[in-house]
Amino acid sequence: MKILVVEDEHTLCDDIAEDLELERYTVERCYDGLEAWEKLLVESYDLAILDLNLPGMDGLDLLRHVRREKHELRILILSARSALEDKVAGLDLGADDYLTKPFALEELEARVRSLLRREYSPRNPTVTVGALVLDGQKREIRANGAPLTLTYKEFGILEYLMLHPEKPVSQEELLEHIWETDSNSFSHSVRMHISSLRKKLRAVLGYDPITTRIGHGYCLEVTP
Ligand code: CA
Repeated sequence: MKILVVEDEHTLCDDIAEDLELERYTVERCYDGLEAWEKLLVESYDLAILDLNLPGMDGLDLLRHVRREKHELRILILSARSALEDKVAGLDLGADDYLTKPFALEELEARVRSLLRREYSPRNPTVTVGALVLDGQKREIRANGAPLTLTYKEFGILEYLMLHPEKPVSQEELLEHIWETDSNSFSHSVRMHISSLRKKLRAVLGYDPITTRIGHGYCLEVTP
């Protein structure tokens, strides 16, 4: 799951990004509205956290532009503008949620989880694929009941595959959703992490639930 944090107060932006990285999300930071607009147009993010008072382009303008192009993107507004009319304007322009500064990071985490949980079923934050159980609340994956010890990338890949079971997922798609945009990562990097992930899964399950469909990508099978 990839999140863009748009906030011109560097310390706050960094605090948010570091906090969400600990929650195993891939996070990118942006300190300028116009730059954010360019990134949002080109990259695939699952969620954008937007400040309203931004240099380059105002947050509400940014929101208006982004909504026109990206219907699927979830947007959380973060702002000191606590006036009701700003909240209403933000939500009317298509923001999914609104958090007023100052806020506790725990509350932000909870809102992020709730927004991204729409990938999961609305009432159940767990997803089961064969012997694997993904807990979107605890941000952990269990295999045969035991929690897997995964690196950030391995977790990101397996989470993505579990949310799209029995559907081939290409290396490009994984790069888009799990790797940072400026990471200069290529497909061999995906292959490397897939290979170590497979090793860990095989060790616990006794088989490898990920198949490679030539020309299409990786596929997480429900039945071995
Ligand atoms: Ca600001």
